[in-house]
Amino acid sequence: MATITHLNGNGVKPNGHGVHAPPLSKEAQALDSSDLDLPDIDPSKLTITLANDLKPLPPPESLVFGQTMTDHMLIMSFDPTTGWSAPEIKPFGPLSLDPASSCFQYCPNVFEGMKAYLDPEGRPRLFRPDLNMDRFTKSTERVALPTFNASALLELIKELVSVDARWIPKKRGYSLYIRPTLLGTRPGLGVAASTHALLYVLLSPTGPYFPSGFKPVSLLASEDAVRSWPGGTGGFKLGLNYAPCFQPQRQAAKRGYDQLLWLLGEERRICEVGQMNFFVVTQREDGDLDLLTPPLDGTILPGITRNSCLQLAEAHTTGREPLDTLKEKLHPSERAITMADLLNFSNSGTLLEVFGAATAAVITPVGRIGYNGSDIHIPTYEGGLGPVGRNLYERIVDIQEGRYKHEWSVLCSE
Ligand SMILES: *Cc1c(COP(=O)(O)O)cnc(C)c1O
Repeated sequence: MATITHLNGNGVKPNGHGVHAPPLSKEAQALDSSDLDLPDIDPSKLTITLANDLKPLPPPESLVFGQTMTDHMLIMSFDPTTGWSAPEIKPFGPLSLDPASSCFQYCPNVFEGMKAYLDPEGRPRLFRPDLNMDRFTKSTERVALPTFNASALLELIKELVSVDARWIPKKRGYSLYIRPTLLGTRPGLGVAASTHALLYVLLSPTGPYFPSGFKPVSLLASEDAVRSWPGGTGGFKLGLNYAPCFQPQRQAAKRGYDQLLWLLGEERRICEVGQMNFFVVTQREDGDLDLLTPPLDGTILPGITRNSCLQLAEAHTTGREPLDTLKEKLHPSERAITMADLLNFSNSGTLLEVFGAATAAVITPVGRIGYNGSDIHIPTYEGGLGPVGRNLYERIVDIQEGRYKHEWSVLCSE
């Protein structure tokens, strides 16, 4: 027999961000939140409630990506009548949401991935966070969620990192992964833009992706499945882009490949490597090197690591910021690359390096690519990374960890 317990009210424990607003009129729902003159995110209204018991810090070597959360989180909500709530930093803990919230049904879910690093003086730093905020805003607009002042959010993220700074492991290559998340919380099953939203930021300490040297990954070129398409959402960091990758990824793993190489169209254009941007390095006739990556045509996620690789290559070649151990000039180029191009590079012996670029691992070398029943082999290098990948990796990490002075690295507190 079932046990029946009577609760008062709706049984939902309010957490301060629960949605209990009455249904909106059709007119109000049609409005774009940014057209309404409602309170924006206001860092001066921040309240901080510190956890009574701080968790013990795990040994850095034991960290598994995204599994350990720090003591606190940043949270605020948007209501169509009162605008953005006062932001709170409070102990990390569960959320309470209306089960009819749109995020559970239609996935107006947006996220970002960035990191905080400790510099040699022990101060937390962020790497090009303005680009994360810009991308977060664009993703938000793509699913018509309420927008917000991104620089106010960045100020609050810096504050959160400062509160939990003890979680950044004091070891080279270690950092604090930052996950800003925005969910549509409109209560109700109607298929419409979310009028309500919940914005929170989680922190998770993380180690180097390759703790014992870079190990080149194997890729399987996707056959039927595509990650993105013209006019679609592949160029935005939306939760809805990722779940459809899991089944093809599982198939690739069954066939002995680490990750997928996403292709698009009959011409088999290369898009991305798993959840990383794709780069290929080729030998030129003049002795220089080409650094190629697909253009941002809406099917490619505009990665901050991608942009940094292109800019560092340019700065190397102009002599403004030469890379430490790369003798050749590098010619960065954003152009379409097909599987036929890749086969040509391989057959003509001009294919030097293939790697993925993203915040988690910075640079991930690729060793072989399964395509049409056989493998394309990429040259191998001692230590796993080729000279271009190695130089870009070292420079980016040195900037992130404040060893190489650069405007891209910003302190969390002045
Ligand atoms: C986040 C992401 C990237 C990498 O972006 P970074 O800003 O460099 O971390 C690349 N591809 C996809 C699909 C992503 O989600």
